[in-house]
Amino acid sequence: MVNLVSIEKLEKQVEDLMEQRDELEENCDTLPQCKDENGCSSCDIYTKIEKIDNKIEEIEEQIEKIMSEDE
Ligand SMILES: [Zn+2]
Repeated sequence: MVNLVSIEKLEKQVEDLMEQRDELEENCDTLPQCKDENGCSSCDIYTKIEKIDNKIEEIEEQIEKIMSEDE
């Protein structure tokens, strides 16, 4: 049986991370250095966004794993 409770929990985590990501992205857009094409390579906010992206990916892998264990 699929562990729906833990999937829901993980999906909630993804949602929260997405929200944080959106906020960071908004801040990032207001930085003068980020208006340049590669400006974000030196931008702290972008580093944080990348970390959140990795986290989201990890959680999504966990969700997939839980789903596949049902088969
Ligand atoms: Zn940036």
